[in-house]
Amino acid sequence: MHTNQPKQTNKALLDLILLGHVNETAVSIVAANLQAIMGLNTDIRSELAKPDYAYVSGRNQFDAAKIIKKLCSITDGAPLKLGLIESDLCSPILSFVYGESQLGGKAALVSLHRLFAKDPEVTYQRIAKISLHEVGHLLGIRHCWKTSCLMKHSSNLEPLDLLSMYFCSACEYEIKRCLETLLNRDT
Ligand SMILES: [Zn+2]
Ligand SMILES: [Zn+2]
Repeated sequence: MHTNQPKQTNKALLDLILLGHVNETAVSIVAANLQAIMGLNTDIRSELAKPDYAYVSGRNQFDAAKIIKKLCSITDGAPLKLGLIESDLCSPILSFVYGESQLGGKAALVSLHRLFAKDPEVTYQRIAKISLHEVGHLLGIRHCWKTSCLMKHSSNLEPLDLLSMYFCSACEYEIKRCLETLLNRDT
């Protein structure tokens, strides 16, 4: 709990919420990259149960929007929430999603399910890239058309793997501005 701590620049702005068992190395890598690339401090919250309420029977997937709604209902902890799940996610209009986010909202979600590669290094990079992208949306940043910006939309793994681990200067500027606003706001 951080609510009783004095206001300080390193307070956690985002809680990583594990939905069922999530690979521990992946969780640490997401937290490390949010810190290193975005300057976003995170807390890793204890694991929640697998979200049975969002299970889509017949598809063996979980409805991303339902999970995000649930994450939004958590009132304690940091102002932003990023859910991590190993199961596959879908939306009513898409057969699968790597992640989903509320633009300028409170909660985002990333699935590890389709990101696994033979090389674990590649797997962890993909998970970090999708997490940074979804948290970018969470801060209100829309898709970017620059060739190598993490806010560029990746419809499959090929373009995702081509991205470098950074935002373009315009997106980076916006992210900094949004984080400063959040830090200066009493939560
Ligand atoms: Zn996106
Ligand atoms: Zn950009």
